[in-house]
Amino acid sequence: KTVTADDIRKSVKENNVHFLRLSFTDINGTLKAVEVPISQLDEVLTNNIRFDGSSIDGFVRIEESDMVLYPDFSSWMVLPWTDKTGSKIGRLTCSVHKTNGEPFEGDPRNNLKRVLKQMHEMGFSDFDIGFEAEFHLFKLGEDGNWTTQVPDHASYFDMTSSDEGAECRRDIVETLESIGFEVEAAHHEVGAGQQEIDFRFDDALTTADRVQTFKMVVRQVARKHGLFATFMAKPIEGEAGNGMHTNMSLFKDGKNAFYSKDGEYHLSNTALYFLNGILEHARAITAVANPTVNSYKRLIPGFEAPVYISWATKNRSPLVRIPDAEEINTRLEMRSADPTANPYLLLAACLTAGLQGIKEQKMPMKPVTSNVFEMTEEERAKHGIKPLPSTLHNAIKAFKADKLIEDALGEHLTKSFIESKELEWSKYTQSVSDWERNRYMGY
Ligand code: GLN
Ligand code: MG
Ligand code: MG
Ligand code: MG
Repeated sequence: KTVTADDIRKSVKENNVHFLRLSFTDINGTLKAVEVPISQLDEVLTNNIRFDGSSIDGFVRIEESDMVLYPDFSSWMVLPWTDKTGSKIGRLTCSVHKTNGEPFEGDPRNNLKRVLKQMHEMGFSDFDIGFEAEFHLFKLGEDGNWTTQVPDHASYFDMTSSDEGAECRRDIVETLESIGFEVEAAHHEVGAGQQEIDFRFDDALTTADRVQTFKMVVRQVARKHGLFATFMAKPIEGEAGNGMHTNMSLFKDGKNAFYSKDGEYHLSNTALYFLNGILEHARAITAVANPTVNSYKRLIPGFEAPVYISWATKNRSPLVRIPDAEEINTRLEMRSADPTANPYLLLAACLTAGLQGIKEQKMPMKPVTSNVFEMTEEERAKHGIKPLPSTLHNAIKAFKADKLIEDALGEHLTKSFIESKELEWSKYTQSVSDWERNRYMGY
């Protein structure tokens, strides 16, 4: 269903909306927003809201820092909470354009649209994505800041209905449903305080927009319950980290192009070629899928997170798993990404790698049937199984060595991404941690 300017005007009246929040995403995946009073509605709907892009991370172009917001009408929603004065806020997801009307290359959302166009040119109609974003809930302290105390000590699929975490999770689910999300599953995850909420797959752009909204809702509702929600990859040492499993399929002529009735594992050659593209570019994709120093503390053995580049149909230790599913749901589940990834950059990188695989028509390595962690170094080498990068530094190196994945981000985003991540790594290498003091003070 298409949403028109008139639909939005009607909704503004019906809901007594006082403010309009126009949001977009910076290179780090952070949701940014400009808020204007409702008197500016006409300006909003005719792409006339300008802002200074020079202080947005990754935009950095002082010489042409004036940016214009082009709202995507289909993203219209009235936020399911009011501000302190009771005013309702309408919200639109926007693309960032230059003052001459051209899409701004530094906007990750525009870049995903560019890559999706390449997919259309290859005859596919949709890149369908289902994310499984995990997160942790911590108690808020009296000062309103996060603490490291978890609200529960439950574990996987526990249903301890009395705990604050479960109550908060139910409130998040209902809030998401009230703004049109189709929530398919919600459960306690393995770690204390850890939760997962899954909403139905949809095309890549819609799903990337939605996961940004999802995070905003999770954070907001958590606060209402005296909790702080974090999507950081590994908030607690020695416990499960937060993944964002990425379920991917391509559609053509209304059908799932990854499904084949007669194919081995019910996978089409298209799916296998796509898979090979992902595996071949996995090391470079990691920089985008796992973009923080902390991300690499999750990619270790023992916590259901992948460490090696391989795939399987049943086993959950490899990078890519093929879930057992009927036709429409046939998909590849990439298990490496974590929820700190910028969803627009992540999907642009995965799609580009997969499409390249389809162009090259090469079959992937054999799936692994045993636990890759239990293999010896020699066994892994014999199967051609390489490790994922072990640090942000190594991932950036892999990214810089992979022209295809750089092209997936385009020149502007690639440059800002490398600059930003190299700075982050350099800051980290200069920091001195408790671990080091505990270990070396006695030297
Ligand atoms: N938390 C695990 C990870 O880091 C995933 C656990 C699961 O969903 N099976 O990816
Ligand atoms: Mg899951
Ligand atoms: Mg999970
Ligand atoms: Mg999963």
